[in-house]
Amino acid sequence: MSHKNIALFVAHIGCPNMCSFCNQHIISGKQETATAADVHDAVKTALDSGCRDGQLAFFGGSFTAINRPYMLELLTAAKAHIDAGEITGIRISTRPDAIDEEVLTILKEYGVEAIELGAQSMDDEVLKLNRRGHSSDDVRHASRLIKSFGFELGLQMMTGLYGDTDEGAIYTANELIKLEPETVRIYPTVVLEGTELYDLFKSGTYKPQTLDEAVVLCAELLKMFEEAEIKVIRLGLHSGGNVEEGYIAGAYHPAFRELVEGRIYYEKALKELSRFEGGLGHTYKIHVNPKEISKMRGQKSQNIVQLKDNNYICNVISNDTLKKYELEIEED
Ligand code: SF4
Repeated sequence: MSHKNIALFVAHIGCPNMCSFCNQHIISGKQETATAADVHDAVKTALDSGCRDGQLAFFGGSFTAINRPYMLELLTAAKAHIDAGEITGIRISTRPDAIDEEVLTILKEYGVEAIELGAQSMDDEVLKLNRRGHSSDDVRHASRLIKSFGFELGLQMMTGLYGDTDEGAIYTANELIKLEPETVRIYPTVVLEGTELYDLFKSGTYKPQTLDEAVVLCAELLKMFEEAEIKVIRLGLHSGGNVEEGYIAGAYHPAFRELVEGRIYYEKALKELSRFEGGLGHTYKIHVNPKEISKMRGQKSQNIVQLKDNNYICNVISNDTLKKYELEIEED
């Protein structure tokens, strides 16, 4: 079921270590961590704007690793709104090594529906280099436990981490698919001020992915998850939340998903066009669903320009009989 998220940030508090890339204060855009009063305010704001089926989301930290009285304070505040029929449930994000049967029992009691784990990589060496403080087996174990309790499982992965490669990211995606999550988020690594990655970047030890590299890789990952019928609910860091201010380097774009889906259209069109006998120098009509026209054209018509560079002059035509990613190409 899809819900509107009412997001609250529980910054850093539960983290036993500091991951190489993380400056949660910059990501969340908040210096203060959520309180019970913030929970009530956020739900009230959602209700005032007409939202009656929101899911309260505690993001940004290590929810199940924060001190227990504080965790219960937030859950108690949220549950009161579930009981009043004002929100449908709660989703949390946490670390893979902060999940056990005891805490899952508590989460169930308080109306948590979905648990997202920051897996980031399934390569233990990459996890170590980026000071994640957990192993790939922690991800496997926590995922199985979460599913056995009947929660919706979400997994988050990153690309371009220190020490990672494209092959490493494909391996990670394959390992995550085996765990059968309901949802996935993919975040290309961004170098933020005040992080260890920033020091590694400054000293030339770490080279971040370019935007183009991340787009090409994430198009592969998106196809893998979609083929496995796993919903990718986020691609790239959220704009806002002060990311732009803390940004130093790496693959960040406010419309990253649009770029990735545009890349998929480009690859599909190029493949289809190569089948035409007439081939180079001819003009073609590419039919796509009306909602997908801008993705087929690409940002600033980049796809059309690149197809032209390959000697295919193309016009994009709207066709509402086609589904997402379906193309029909005819020669003009
Ligand atoms: S576990 Fe998450 S919130 Fe904590 S330091 Fe690492 S990335 Fe940041």
